[in-house]
Amino acid sequence: MHAEILVVGGGVMGTSIAMHTAQRTDRLGKPVVLFERGELGCGSSGRSGAILRQYHGNSVVARMARDSLRDYSTFEARTGRAIGFRRTGVLIFSGPSSPESCQRLRENVEMLKGLGIETDLVEKKELAELVPGIEVKPGTIGAWEPEGGFVDPIRTVNAFAALARTAGAVTRLGVEVQEILVEGGKVVGANTSEGRYSAKKICIVAGPWSARLLKPLGIELPVRTIGSESHFVVMRDSDLLDEEPEDESYVLREALSFDDIQDPVERVAGSSARASLGLHPVLIDLEQGFYLRCEPRQRRTRLGKTDYDCDKVLSDADQLEEQVSQEFIDWSRRALIKLMPTYANEADAGSQTTWQTMTPDFQGLIGPVGEIEGLYVMTGFSGHGFKLAPVIGAGVAQMLMDERITTFEAESFSPSRFSGGEDWSGRFVF
Ligand SMILES: Cc1cc2nc3c(=O)[nH]c(=O)nc-3n(C[C@H](O)[C@H](O)[C@H](O)COP(=O)(O)OP(=O)(O)OC[C@H]3O[C@@H](n4cnc5c(N)ncnc54)[C@H](O)[C@@H]3O)c2cc1C
Repeated sequence: MHAEILVVGGGVMGTSIAMHTAQRTDRLGKPVVLFERGELGCGSSGRSGAILRQYHGNSVVARMARDSLRDYSTFEARTGRAIGFRRTGVLIFSGPSSPESCQRLRENVEMLKGLGIETDLVEKKELAELVPGIEVKPGTIGAWEPEGGFVDPIRTVNAFAALARTAGAVTRLGVEVQEILVEGGKVVGANTSEGRYSAKKICIVAGPWSARLLKPLGIELPVRTIGSESHFVVMRDSDLLDEEPEDESYVLREALSFDDIQDPVERVAGSSARASLGLHPVLIDLEQGFYLRCEPRQRRTRLGKTDYDCDKVLSDADQLEEQVSQEFIDWSRRALIKLMPTYANEADAGSQTTWQTMTPDFQGLIGPVGEIEGLYVMTGFSGHGFKLAPVIGAGVAQMLMDERITTFEAESFSPSRFSGGEDWSGRFVF
């Protein structure tokens, strides 16, 4: 089969790229073809926190998060497809035992305001008003981002793929790309588990498996894959939640009015309104090094680390140890109850380990790779790819069409920005 562009991987990045690219290609001629060897979202994306936080110490990334949030927050109204967007707000805070982190937080709030991102510096009293039941030390300060929130990761990936198909893309699920075909320094196609496809351009968006596809071409990616643990507890007040339809593909019946569906939480004043929906803001506790966010559809609250166990490197992505350590479960429950004692009586609701792809500077690799014409890679999003997927998809579509990239600064993400011998011992800094 002849294709215009091949996209390898059906996570949030692959589906976003396919959606944006298909809208720009000739649907009746050679299509965009996306391959996913399992199900859509079966890699990191389906198990992601999918938190949409604009707060970031790096202004390039903060701008991308801002623009992506605008895209996510209007997505349901624009397309009629549900992605489970919830504007709960995001609260990032640090305490007196960490003065450096508090200082950075102050500076970041100023920088974010300069980018037009609504962020307020809040103190203990306001923190307690925003999150009834929170326990923080005197001297704690926070950055309150009322516009942030989260999406449902699986619904989002499915919605992106559905829109890609509507625009003419072909999604081949259960089909594995086995080999990238190159002739005379140019991409000519790929061998897959259902035969050969020819194309002049191919995007490797295969998460932790990207390196495996590029290695036979002599390309080494500066990416490491680690196992990332999350624990879940039953969501506080989950019995008060509104019912949501279970069908993944349901189309919002009322997707006609932006105001109606954009934010049922914001329309009712005061924090008690939030509680009545069972939701509280996403909380990022820099002092304890952990975060939590409600997952209303599953009626559970997710707990994870803000830092990464960069030493827990997987030699092979297929060797992920799915068992979550008791040490992590105990630590995360302790941190939760210290911060939110009102969770003390909530039961455990499972746990998971999943893949996290990291680069030495904690930013993704996006762009041409290996000096082979038509070969592109997008991976290594270091724990914050979901929030950026809309602008990355749009920018990669421009890149593939040889247009000027307007949605992000391509040089900051160039796969060739590392010279080798990088120091991998750095920590992620908020
Ligand atoms: C626990 C956790 C929490 C996170 N929380 C957040 C968050 O709150 N906010 C945020 O912004 N980001 C978050 N992230 C990061 C975010 O989820 C990732 O950056 C993002 O999901 C990466 O998407 P992807 O499409 O690049 O990769 P993946 O989702 O891993 O997709 C790659 C796909 O490629 C497929 N594939 C592999 N090889 C082949 C092949 N040869 N042929 C065909 N298909 C193939 C795989 O099956 C897989 O589905 C989190 C990540 C983790 C692990």
